[in-house]
Amino acid sequence: MDNPSLYAMTLPDLEALLRAWGQPAFRARQIYRQLYVNLAADPAAMTDLPQALRERLAHEATLNPLRLVRSQSSADGLTRKALFALPDGVQIETVLMIYADRATVCVSTQAGCAMGCSFCATATLGLRRNLTAGEMVAQVLWASREVRSLAVPATQPGHAHSEEGATWWGEARALRRPLERVSNLVFMGMGEPFANYDRWWDAVQCLHNPQGFNMGARSMTVSTVGLVPGILRLADAGLPINLAISLHAPDDALRNELVPVNTRYPIREVLAAAQTYIEKTGRRVSFEYVLIQGRNDHPHQALALAKLLRSQSLICHVNLIPWNPLPGSPLARSDLQRVHAFQQVLVDYGLACTVRVERGVEIAAACGQLAGGGA
Ligand code: SF4
Repeated sequence: MDNPSLYAMTLPDLEALLRAWGQPAFRARQIYRQLYVNLAADPAAMTDLPQALRERLAHEATLNPLRLVRSQSSADGLTRKALFALPDGVQIETVLMIYADRATVCVSTQAGCAMGCSFCATATLGLRRNLTAGEMVAQVLWASREVRSLAVPATQPGHAHSEEGATWWGEARALRRPLERVSNLVFMGMGEPFANYDRWWDAVQCLHNPQGFNMGARSMTVSTVGLVPGILRLADAGLPINLAISLHAPDDALRNELVPVNTRYPIREVLAAAQTYIEKTGRRVSFEYVLIQGRNDHPHQALALAKLLRSQSLICHVNLIPWNPLPGSPLARSDLQRVHAFQQVLVDYGLACTVRVERGVEIAAACGQLAGGGA
């Protein structure tokens, strides 16, 4: 039998494990604090535990299921992409982005993806497998350790040594104040979170737990390609996690081509689910729209999108994302003029609309570029 994985184990489960090992319950709370507050990656670092317990944890439990295979940093050092191998050899990618006042980690929820979106590198891998909750949580803890290693005086450019021994030069001065860990989390890496809903939800609860990592629900965003059952489950879940829905087209004919799952959940049903989410949670929804030159970026398509969203009176925000290039793809990124013209149509219709400033395009770490070393 595999060793129990400590990441994403609930505190009661951890207490039960420790009880079975003849340990008092408070040891579980110590370990929880070590994992999620001190960000310990190794039992040896848990110096408030007895030596014998540290050794038992090292031999009979799995702490970090991720092995760093490769990491790349953008030229300014503010975006870092990590390629990890999981215990069965499957690989995934995670992206960390540092901003002046926050650090955001983009987490993968599956290795590969079955959704087949025509503009996305991950789709070329197909679905290899769902990630466990612990494998998702581990990505956040890796990013947090990276951020902590960057906590240099805010006025000095600096370099950071990660736990894996790599060194990456970063304009760490971009951080106006040192951060202790990642401040924001987006489930927008490889995979469709709602196709792995139960494990994804376990990871969310683990990260949200006030006794553990204690990340606020409003600091988390989940992005879905429009799986209606997942949107409706989230609407009833009672946690104010931000919801982003990838739309990418104003009509079903085009969306069927770009996002094949649209044949199962057409736009009308996706927007109805979004409306339910808004009514039940009182929160707005973000619609993501990747702009591909000549495919979905015409002004008449912007007008159709504006009318569609206005007709539903959805409380929403539209996020335009100029498509990020993939090697060998016949698609082209919309030029800035077309992007701004598209945006202007939506704004003129009274919609809140922004253009996403992409990070890490040169290291294939941007939206739609993650291929986990497999493509
Ligand atoms: S865009 Fe998202 S849902 Fe579509 S194939 Fe890529 S990872 Fe999967």
